Amino acid sequence: MPARIDGNRLWSHLMAMAEVGPTANGGSNRQAISDEDAAGRSLLLEWATAAGCTAQTDEIGNLFIRRAGRDESLPPVLMGSHLDTQPTGGRFDGVYGVLGGLEVIESLNDMDHQTEAPVELAVWTNEEGSRFQYSMMGSAVWANWLELDAALALVDKDGLTVAEELDRLGWAGERPASPHPYTAAFELHIEQGPILEADQLDVGVVTGVQGFRWYTIRITGDPAHAGPTPMEVRHDPAAAISRIVGDVYATAADFGPWGRSTFAQFHSEPVSPNTVPGLLTCSLDIRHPILADLDAMEALMRASVAAAAEAFGVGVEIAVDNDSPPVAFDPNCIGWVQESVDDLGLTNQQMVSGAGHDACYVALHCPTSMIFVPCDGGISHNEAESITSEQAEHGASVLLGAVMRAAQLQP
Ligand SMILES: [Zn+2]
Repeated sequence: MPARIDGNRLWSHLMAMAEVGPTANGGSNRQAISDEDAAGRSLLLEWATAAGCTAQTDEIGNLFIRRAGRDESLPPVLMGSHLDTQPTGGRFDGVYGVLGGLEVIESLNDMDHQTEAPVELAVWTNEEGSRFQYSMMGSAVWANWLELDAALALVDKDGLTVAEELDRLGWAGERPASPHPYTAAFELHIEQGPILEADQLDVGVVTGVQGFRWYTIRITGDPAHAGPTPMEVRHDPAAAISRIVGDVYATAADFGPWGRSTFAQFHSEPVSPNTVPGLLTCSLDIRHPILADLDAMEALMRASVAAAAEAFGVGVEIAVDNDSPPVAFDPNCIGWVQESVDDLGLTNQQMVSGAGHDACYVALHCPTSMIFVPCDGGISHNEAESITSEQAEHGASVLLGAVMRAAQLQP
């Protein structure tokens, strides 16, 4: 029989944590490096200490909770996610991965099972990026992706810096915020999308994370009177963008099921209902988990923009604002998760994540993969975020099996 975690204990921890920074509509408000975030960590540390673990924080406040292995010289197996939330966040985004990890440790204790390698549970600082606007900040610093000083200097809307708030809470630790070796890393998370629920599956075995690129498209034409100016003589940025939007959405469909295109932030000048715009800008976000396909989607977008410029006699500029490459997770880590799922007899599919996670930065330095469970309606970043205790139990049991496999490796 495969080992399983204690679903009731996990659920009671999840519900107790949801009482820290509760919102009016049943969600959670524990914004990064706030009093509520600190209260959440204190509660976690109480549980972890009772479970016999030690804890350390690094320079950016990432918290690492450790259960000793038989051979303390081996690189640990890492679990973890984040405890901070959006201002009107749910009870499970991030929290589930942390408390699922704690539950794995408690289940190993219950079984009196000594792993070969140590097991660590990370709580990454400021994953959400809403109060201090850099998402996955703590793991980005850990991965040497973001400079420590740049992160410490981030300011919230009240003028407080990350450095000041870390000091106030006593979170800035001795441990260097830089990559340390891990045998394997697993992040358990709610899917935050509708696919697993629609397919009525227990678990998603996550093989990677979509790459994305953000652009600003700027189209210049000639302002003209909306009445007397015949359509065929206009240089109309709105006419051009209407063709581009159609083309780029069609491209996303052609690159289905994982291709994504999102236009937003439309702005035109002059601000007038009866003048052909002289300028139109908008943002575009395109996503795909395979780099070659992401490149191909970009090339088609650029061709469409150039063709529209030609057809409508307008000027175009495309600025790249963000370029986050696709992440392909480690085949061994994916394999351990898949074996664990199969052992438990759970229905599943392999899938890619549409959202970024701390695991993306961890994966830059360590073999990594993720485990998803369905969430009600695919809703997340919302007080209504919801999973069942059975779904919570499934995902954490998969995590237990994956960790036990990875942590038995001999050097
Ligand atoms: Zn999250």
